[in-house]
Amino acid sequence: MNRVRVALPVPLHQHFDYLLPEGMQVQVGVRVRVPFGKRELIGIVWQLDPENAHPDKLKALLEVLDQTPLFGNEIKQLLSFAADYYHHPLGEVLVSALPALLREGKAVLAGHGRLLQLTPLGSSLKTDALQRAPRQLALWQRLQQAACREDELVGESPQIKALLEKDLVAWQAIEFSPFVPQPDRQTPLQLNPAQALAVSAINQSAGSFSRFLLEGVTGSGKTEVYLQCISPVLQRGQQVLVLVPEIGLTPQTLARFAKRFAVPLQIWHSNMTDQERLLAWQRSQSGDAAITIGTRSALFLPFLQLGLLIIDEEHDASLKQQEGFRYHARDLAVKRAALASCPIVLGSATPSLESLYNVQQGKFAHLPLPERATSQKVPKIELMDLKQQVLKHGLADGTLVQIKQRLQRGEQVMLFLNRRGFAPALICHECGWLTECQRCAAFTTFHKQSRQLVCHHCGASRPVPHQCGHCGSTQLAPVGQGTEQLEEQLQQLIPDFPVIRLDRDSTRRKGSLEALLEEINQGQPAIIVGTQMLAKGHHFPKVSLVVIVDVDSALYSSDFRASEQLAQLLTQVAGRAGRGDIAGTVLLQTHYPGHPLLQDVIQNGYSSFARSALLERQQTRLPPYQHLALFRTESFDSNDGLLFLTGMQQLIATECPQVQYLGPLKPPLERKAGKFRWQLQLFCRDRRQLHLALDLVLSQCCSTTLSRKIKWQLDVDALDL
Ligand code: ADP
Ligand code: ZN
Ligand code: ZN
Repeated sequence: MNRVRVALPVPLHQHFDYLLPEGMQVQVGVRVRVPFGKRELIGIVWQLDPENAHPDKLKALLEVLDQTPLFGNEIKQLLSFAADYYHHPLGEVLVSALPALLREGKAVLAGHGRLLQLTPLGSSLKTDALQRAPRQLALWQRLQQAACREDELVGESPQIKALLEKDLVAWQAIEFSPFVPQPDRQTPLQLNPAQALAVSAINQSAGSFSRFLLEGVTGSGKTEVYLQCISPVLQRGQQVLVLVPEIGLTPQTLARFAKRFAVPLQIWHSNMTDQERLLAWQRSQSGDAAITIGTRSALFLPFLQLGLLIIDEEHDASLKQQEGFRYHARDLAVKRAALASCPIVLGSATPSLESLYNVQQGKFAHLPLPERATSQKVPKIELMDLKQQVLKHGLADGTLVQIKQRLQRGEQVMLFLNRRGFAPALICHECGWLTECQRCAAFTTFHKQSRQLVCHHCGASRPVPHQCGHCGSTQLAPVGQGTEQLEEQLQQLIPDFPVIRLDRDSTRRKGSLEALLEEINQGQPAIIVGTQMLAKGHHFPKVSLVVIVDVDSALYSSDFRASEQLAQLLTQVAGRAGRGDIAGTVLLQTHYPGHPLLQDVIQNGYSSFARSALLERQQTRLPPYQHLALFRTESFDSNDGLLFLTGMQQLIATECPQVQYLGPLKPPLERKAGKFRWQLQLFCRDRRQLHLALDLVLSQCCSTTLSRKIKWQLDVDALDL
């Protein structure tokens, strides 16, 4: 053997071969340092002795970084599959799968973690010494009780650093090893028949690949089903991965699981430091972490022995990575479960049409939980007809009356408006000029508190101008309504009760989301205003009224997925009403109370809507009945992108008669950050044919001079058009 094939983190669709110097030992899966052009890169050995190795003069490997492979065959196959399926360079897929510190060449200390403990100096410290640093004091007090494992100290880095500098604490290395099964901390709940059926179906398939869709209305006890499926897996000493859509939900889910299970748990999300990620990666690899709760990229963690995979809120769009290596965590997780030969459970109150289709096709077993698990009443959905009403700040009189009633009864009210900021634009009263982003075909949102105009597409911001950019008038006024404005107006209309705003702006600072949730959970009567963040799995037991301020903007959209998303949103938001002992009401403000979608969801529920929506997708030949792939371009000269995609479209038209195409066309946002955008949509009934067409197009169109002039990307199974 004298040649090795290496996967390198470069955006090129090819492998790279190197010579193995005399005396150097490598295995598949170890990291190596190699010369690459004028640079040096760190890559992963992918294949030994490749048959069709590049005939040119090969360069030699410089260094081997690992004695044992970073991951085994399971992850290797997953990554190869992902690279093939998404037609994405393997090296970039690898980047998504490996913690940054490993990519930079940091050593993996096989099976090692760290324990933080007090030094002799720290042990003899007087309590008042840290009086002025309450966080350091708290950590010091904690360490007085017992030394802490590094993974129990997530988010404490500043305090640790300070104490280390004062020589009060020190790290000690410890060995990570597979966790030891423990008896559960809590006795499980008595399951209702639907739950019992679900649990036994899943548990019976232990040890083999099988797919389940757990479709349970909000409050039906899906989490209890997860818990009772996890328990026997842990007893067998196998690990469990739970994917959740949002970072905000990881601590909440973790707390619930930690109450039940006495084994080591860990979280994984994008807000962790590089060091924390490396640690979580090693705990997965060593088998120490029994349960991992994480956002989408957790599916690449190298578990020693995965026994069960769960995806909660499987319909959620944030499971799809929308930039760089665009993958859908749900789909790759199914592949992962297949490779690990373990069951996978997809849970949701509002399953995606893709998953329901998979049930129809017999690929997923359907486990419905049609009833709430407790005696809680199902919320009532009411329509508030806005036609011919005088609105006060976008709210009908009837809506305001209901809000006040609930507050006076000591309950909480939630208003849902999917637009953050104060107003979507400023308008000139004299000439009608509107504040636009200079780089995008979009208006800039007025943020009153920060006195900024912000483009929500490219992020550009500038101070609010004093004068109209066209006529110079100073008569600039906000048009439309965002959450910041609604908050201010409600505060004026109903001054006796606090207004709490939950959106990306109000939760930007670390810890602020937790603080706001804490305030809501105190249970005092309050008005909660927020964006779609509110619809994501939070439990607000005191909320008895949910108002969806503006349903109409989503009713008529050009995106074929808009109706599915709206139905999911309505149902999810409705699930937040009346979770305590109070019956909840959901008020939908609309000018179109007779709209068939609203009527269907209200009268028959989500699953009825979903079935008719699937039928419609079948008739209109859209996903999931067809496979979709999308090419997007961005270029400073609009013509370049158009030309590039036209070339592709002509190739498809002549060479791939089975593939239908739409475009090149302009997306809804036709200019972003100064660049013009185009897209070409490809549809095909047969997945294989589509992928052959993609191979052809990629080989013929994507190495031309034109392709280098523009930015282009391929999005297989695109969600947003
Ligand atoms: P979901 O995740 O489906 O929205 P949860 O798992 O949060 O629902 O359950 C809702 C509530 O019902 C929780 O308070 C839970 O403790 C309770 N619950 C679940 N299953 C049962 C059961 N079998 N018996 C009694 N209460 C249950
Ligand atoms: Zn912009
Ligand atoms: Zn003007």
